[in-house]
Amino acid sequence: MRIAVYPGSFDPVTNGHIDIIERGLSIFDRIIVAVIKNPSKTPLFPIADRVAMIKQALKGKKNVSVESFDGLLVKFSKKVGAKAIIRGLRAVSDFEYEFQLALTNRKMKEDLETVFLMTDYKYSYLSSSLVREIAQLGGDISGFVPPAVKKYLK
Ligand code: ADP
Repeated sequence: MRIAVYPGSFDPVTNGHIDIIERGLSIFDRIIVAVIKNPSKTPLFPIADRVAMIKQALKGKKNVSVESFDGLLVKFSKKVGAKAIIRGLRAVSDFEYEFQLALTNRKMKEDLETVFLMTDYKYSYLSSSLVREIAQLGGDISGFVPPAVKKYLK
């Protein structure tokens, strides 16, 4: 069984993330969305809420589960039996950091591959930080996030 982890802070999950998950499911037998408990920047949404929003957004979808984790991604991946890490790429600006991360993870665990999926052009501009900013300024985020996130923000 081909299991992949899709790690991120998901603060909050956006339509761009959901698109990556859906497309990942056509390649892998199972995807575990791995929500980082304590990302380097203090998250706006508590971990329980970030997990709950993704679970709701993926309700009814088969072969995908959501978990939170702390510590090294390579350790978490080993624990859940994942063979690959999925990451999304939006623009060249994502590349340098993602490249460094992928090589570091590979150095730590050689049999764990990182697979990059290109964003759909519809979501190429979309980021969680943009959604947080719009929400905090009272703007409408309907077009950017799954309905579950909008409901939560209300
Ligand atoms: P992190 O803090 O680890 O970057 P994010 O939640 O911001 O976590 O993103 C998780 C992954 O999803 C990253 O690989 C990121 O590049 C990707 N991603 C974020 N937004 C989009 C989008 N609009 N389209 C495609 N991939 C995306």
